[in-house]
Amino acid sequence: MRTKIIAGNWKMNNDKKATAILIEQLEENLQNTNGRLIIAPPFTHLEQSVALTKGSKLEVAAQNMHQAISGAFTGEIAAPMLQSINVRTVILGHSERRTYFNETNHALAEKVQTALDYDMDVIFCFGEVLSERKEGKHFETVKQQLEEALFGLEAAAWKKIILAYEPVWAIGTGETASPEQAQEMHAYIRQVIASKYGAQVANTVSILYGGSVKPSNAADIFQQKDVDGGLIGGAALKAEDFLAIAKAI
Ligand code: PEP
Repeated sequence: MRTKIIAGNWKMNNDKKATAILIEQLEENLQNTNGRLIIAPPFTHLEQSVALTKGSKLEVAAQNMHQAISGAFTGEIAAPMLQSINVRTVILGHSERRTYFNETNHALAEKVQTALDYDMDVIFCFGEVLSERKEGKHFETVKQQLEEALFGLEAAAWKKIILAYEPVWAIGTGETASPEQAQEMHAYIRQVIASKYGAQVANTVSILYGGSVKPSNAADIFQQKDVDGGLIGGAALKAEDFLAIAKAI
């Protein structure tokens, strides 16, 4: 049995007050939600979010972290800092980090290892851009992302990895991969992992789909047999929508 997971990536949204309101609205309506439910507020609101969700099923993740554990990296945040405020999960490799902050698969391999050294769960994002899909190179791209960023890991480390396949052309665009496209890629990802690590790892890793998931399309996507949940951007900013998506799993 794979763990079902819905994670909300708040990106650079919500001030302190809006964070408290959104968490309160979520907390009041968590009944009938299955699996793990994770929110990823901006760094400045992580400690507050951990405090507000204490004792509840809502978990708090960071949206990024640096691969070094301390040092002269102005503006960056390190794994021990996250650990010290009880943040136990981190999103790594989001396409916005790759595109706007030049994160490479090589840097991501280091970030993943550091997160694991600090016993954190990693939500690892990857996926092809539109031109790659149009040219039929999407499988190749995804395989390369997995190989370069994750295939240095020991098999046991995969217990801490959550994959989030996010076709870049579907993020924040309103354009969603069809349920069939999502299933096709998720099955392919499992096959790539199986050929490196064997069926046990491939069949137990949770693979989330991300890219314009909303209440109206969530159930069709989550019904696919290799889709274990979603990484949600825009729709995670409205409690009603995020909860409707969480209940669709
Ligand atoms: C994301 O940022 O990971 C994402 C999936 O965004 P959206 O749901 O807005 O497409």
